[in-house]
Amino acid sequence: MTTGQTKKLVIGNLKMNILSPIERGRYLKDFSKAMAGKKLTTVMAVLCPPFVHLEQFRKSIKRQDVQIGAQNMFLLERGSFTGEVSAPMLKSIGTEFVILGHSERRRYFGEDEAVVNAKLKMALKCGLAPVVCIGDTHEQRDSGDMKRILRMQIEGALEGVPGGKLEQIVLVYEPVWAVGTDILPTSNEVLEAKILVKKILTDLYGAKRTGIVRILYGGSVSARVAKQVCLDPAMDGVLVGRESLIPREFLKIAEIING
Ligand code: PEP
Repeated sequence: MTTGQTKKLVIGNLKMNILSPIERGRYLKDFSKAMAGKKLTTVMAVLCPPFVHLEQFRKSIKRQDVQIGAQNMFLLERGSFTGEVSAPMLKSIGTEFVILGHSERRRYFGEDEAVVNAKLKMALKCGLAPVVCIGDTHEQRDSGDMKRILRMQIEGALEGVPGGKLEQIVLVYEPVWAVGTDILPTSNEVLEAKILVKKILTDLYGAKRTGIVRILYGGSVSARVAKQVCLDPAMDGVLVGRESLIPREFLKIAEIING
């Protein structure tokens, strides 16, 4: 596995963009240009394009400091599940990470804790590093429900997962109200969320194991705010949406976090 367990992660979620081989070629060319002469030493960059582009991304980016991730996967290995893509398929083409439980999957495709949990276990079984998104909505935050929601999401996602598997797992605190909105939490709010996530992990697995789970921040990250949401609150990296569509902006974020 090349998931750089001791490194910070800067993960780009390209979502349902890059519509053709021409657009893909342009993106990869821009990425390679922006990356030329650079080396990330304390950061692993991870690009998560749509399924159809994964193999081409893997083939054209041949660098130790950049890995490939998927945006989703199915919860079983094979069979009659029309339209789905499984973890062994992803692994077989060099995918190392998979985003699970993104708020858009929860909102538009009804994914709940049980689904995230089943997918996470399958990802682990197949040697993929699950990047699990957790986060509160505006209403949940306003009604003081954030702690309960995060606990429910984390406990649900990790149910039945042994402590020995924790180092493969990445958690992203991604408040739903910060995704795609340019509304950002303060450094203190991010830090509070990290402390809460650690507390929940400690309750589940004990303090010794808690430190090995990388905890990222996601939601409206740009180079301008990378410090505020990642460095000052000492997070283990970021999940980037829109800004990952512009390779030089994505790499600017990676370089800021690389230090
Ligand atoms: C996301 O959807 O995972 C995300 C981080 O989006 P954005 O950066 O565009 O808010």
